[in-house]
Parts: sequence; structure tokens; C-alpha cells
Amino acid sequence: MRIGHGYDVHRTAPGRRLVLCGTEIECEFGLTAHSDGDVALHALTDAILGAAGLPDIGRLFPDTDEAWKDADSRDILRRAVAMVREKGFEPEYADVTIIAERPKLAPYIEKMRDAAAGAMGVDPSRVNVKATTEEKLGFTGCGEGIAAHAVCLLRE
Ligand code: MG
Repeated sequence: MRIGHGYDVHRTAPGRRLVLCGTEIECEFGLTAHSDGDVALHALTDAILGAAGLPDIGRLFPDTDEAWKDADSRDILRRAVAMVREKGFEPEYADVTIIAERPKLAPYIEKMRDAAAGAMGVDPSRVNVKATTEEKLGFTGCGEGIAAHAVCLLRE
């Protein structure tokens, strides 16, 4: 077994689409990014890559590369999982935590889990997604950004 952790932050911006864990969320703001800004899938991708000892998402899919402009982060996750499988590892379990003061993410949890599992090519029972606030503290608490953590266990 190998374990990996991923962390990512994106700044909020009015008028952008909000996509979290491959799921479009109804909201008056979104996240600035070169890609679709899916902070949750970026954290998850980094956790998976980290567990396999591969370079991080920023090195493999650089934001200076036009190929990833407005990219669907599910495609990035799919490619990362393919690289991990190539090295002989299979995702055993992943757990994602999204930190956002707003919007309320509870109605989207199952959809987000299914979308993440779909991109990873695993059964949804192998993925968990949850959301929390930071009690109005710091950059997530005042709504300047959304953060996400993820851990992933790989089986050799
Ligand atoms: Mg990112």
C-alpha cells in the first residue's frame, strides 16, 4: 500500500463557472484558473500522483501549456490515474475534503463522488467526498478562495 496527500487552493471570481469534483455547482462565483479550476480534483490528482511517487500536477500538466487551457479536470485526473496504473498501482480508496464557506455543497456530495470515481475508473464505494467551512476564518472563511485536501491509498 502507498498513501498520498494533495492540497490545492483557487481564488474565487465572480461570473466564472464553479466546478467541484467534476460537478457544476450553482453559484454566483467560480474559481480563477488556467483549467476549469476544479480545486477538489486537483487535490485528488496530486494525492494519487504523490502516492505513486510521480511528479505533481503542476509539473505534469503545467498552466503554461495551452493544452490545459480551460481543461476539464476530469481529463487531467483520468490521465494521472492512467500513469499510476502504468506504474502498477490501483487506487484503493480516496477521501476528499473541500473547504468552502459558500455555497452549501451538501446537495452535491453524491454527484461529486460519482464524478470523481468515474474519472478514476473505480467504483463509487472507493471514493468519499465531504465539505466543511472554516468558521468564517482566513481566506476560505471570508470567501476569497476555496481549498481542498485529498488523500489516496494505492494498492500495488
Ligand atoms: Mg489547481
